[in-house]
Amino acid sequence: MKILITGGAGLIGSNLTDFHLRKNDQVTVIDNFITSSKKNIESFEQNKNFFFIKADIIQNPFQTIKNNFDLIYHLASPASPIQYWRYPLETLMANSQGTDNLFQFGLKNKQAPIVIASTSEVYGDPAIHPQPETYYGNVNSYGERSCYDEGKRFAEALAYTYTNKYKLDIRIARIFNTYGPNMERNDGRVISNFINQTLTNQPITIYGDGKQTRSFCYVDDMVFGLYLLGIKKSPQERIVNFGNPDEKSMIELAKIIKELTESQSKIVFKPIKGDDPQRRKPDIGRARTMLNWQPKIDLETGLLKTINYFKQRFYQ
Ligand code: UDP
Repeated sequence: MKILITGGAGLIGSNLTDFHLRKNDQVTVIDNFITSSKKNIESFEQNKNFFFIKADIIQNPFQTIKNNFDLIYHLASPASPIQYWRYPLETLMANSQGTDNLFQFGLKNKQAPIVIASTSEVYGDPAIHPQPETYYGNVNSYGERSCYDEGKRFAEALAYTYTNKYKLDIRIARIFNTYGPNMERNDGRVISNFINQTLTNQPITIYGDGKQTRSFCYVDDMVFGLYLLGIKKSPQERIVNFGNPDEKSMIELAKIIKELTESQSKIVFKPIKGDDPQRRKPDIGRARTMLNWQPKIDLETGLLKTINYFKQRFYQ
């Protein structure tokens, strides 16, 4: 298969690239490294099936692409709060202009399904728990997280419009918190922060009272879910949640990571930013029935692999 991945140097993108290269697929990656790292794709450079275009999707690099693809994944966007606070306009524009550029390209390459990365953030601070795809969300359009939340909601609306107006085959993956090897060291996510802090015996910073919850999915499980969505023939549903329903409070998470790293770090509490969702857990019933997908890697196993990756890449 010929695969195109925007954002292919990021956490999910680089693991997805690896997955397809191992299957002997030909993979073209577009990335501008705004929030990702060249190191994540270095090991592919010798692979004759790997092609790389360094470009910003907002500038429409698709105009120069002559190839056709069998499957397109659209992942390019800052994705952690620290990253989208640093690049709020880029986040809005990648998910609007950049996504429109990709869909226009898709019209020329209409046989290829397009899987786009949406997010659990489209549910905002959810009033329904766990969150099914049918929930419309509780989102602030004018606040700390709105550049990301509304950017992704716009991308979903654009996908709906291209699918209905032009019959473009777009599938929407609502991705819940994902972690694993190739995370950026300083992306500010809770798992990377806690691992850095515990490995260096610095205080573990919990924002707010630490009772807020998240459900963490290991990246290999996520990659496989996106792939199944991409290759599904005539999917009954176009929007699918992907995540691990194992819900943990940030206090619980801090204790688990402290134990796994055998760290002396103390826990400290810091102020929390606005619109931080109180609870988050995916309802993955649709992924289960439609794709026969569910995560296989439990939190401790995934965290141990991630801790090893941090040790090897950043602490040797
Ligand atoms: N968080 C925390 N300490 C940190 C970083 C994050 O307590 O050092 C909290 C954050 O306030 C949020 C949760 O952990 O409630 C998950 O944050 P993350 O940035 O990983 O992703 P989010 O799900 O909020 O997009």
